[in-house]
Amino acid sequence: MIDALAPSSTDDDTTASRRAPSPPLGSQEPWKSSPLVSFSVALHGVALLALALRPRLWKPLAALLAVDHLALCSAGMWPRSRLLGPNTSHFHHHNTATPWVALTLDDGPDPEVTPRVLDLLAQRRARVSFFCIGRHAASRPDIVRRMVDEGHRVENHTLHHRPYFSLLGSRAQEREITGAQEILQQLSGRAPRWFRAPAGIQNPLLGPILHRLGLNLVSWTRRGFDAVERNPRRIVQRLGHDLRSGDILVLHDGFGPRDRRRQAVILQSLPMLLDQLEGRGLQALPLPDPPGSAKGDGSPTAPCIDTAAM
Ligand SMILES: [Zn+2]
Repeated sequence: MIDALAPSSTDDDTTASRRAPSPPLGSQEPWKSSPLVSFSVALHGVALLALALRPRLWKPLAALLAVDHLALCSAGMWPRSRLLGPNTSHFHHHNTATPWVALTLDDGPDPEVTPRVLDLLAQRRARVSFFCIGRHAASRPDIVRRMVDEGHRVENHTLHHRPYFSLLGSRAQEREITGAQEILQQLSGRAPRWFRAPAGIQNPLLGPILHRLGLNLVSWTRRGFDAVERNPRRIVQRLGHDLRSGDILVLHDGFGPRDRRRQAVILQSLPMLLDQLEGRGLQALPLPDPPGSAKGDGSPTAPCIDTAAM
């Protein structure tokens, strides 16, 4: 089954959904902490009890908790880690006729680069998921509309893309996520289903927030480090290494480097990547809807996926 064959929604439907944002998609299921986070919570409880009973033990107890925090930080710094909670980095799928990869573009919309990226994608009939920064989207609603009209998906990449996002407390993180969610839903007519943290860095507070808001954390299978790399060939080599159907790839249409002629590097790396995908018989598609999310906007997306693998 390929959702790309699903009928498109009408303009009236889209306009109506923009006027009346749908309610949050939050799950009714209670949040279940990962084994590492559960262990850490229990360790803090035991340490506090031990401190109350034997205050002289404060030094070894403090050292124990420092090691625990170091382990949590290390897990959060590893973007593909599932140690802090669910995190999709690849789709294992079956019964799909056409091999595909999910192509994701982060940090836009950029007023200069994103329209040219959209032109390239239209020429190549490729569709992607744009992980937009809420305040950038709010300043260029026309570009977000164009993304949707041309069959792309718009997903959540926080309101401000603060580099210290993973150091924020629970309320501040939630404000960053819901702020972007409201803007992107309003502009695109669809509530984003996926969330990607700035630089992919998580902390243990993020999972429960996303769960409550009905969002799913996604990282990537491979990235080209194109936020810093100026050589498009090296970017595509990294992305294309050992490519498989169901992989998730990342490029940046915002904050990306420029070459010597001041051209955004993605304008060279993207066509090269699309050539490579075509040569390997891989179709570029947006991220599919996560399992259990409400369908109905009719946008083209990736084929059915094996939900057990997420
Ligand atoms: Zn980013």
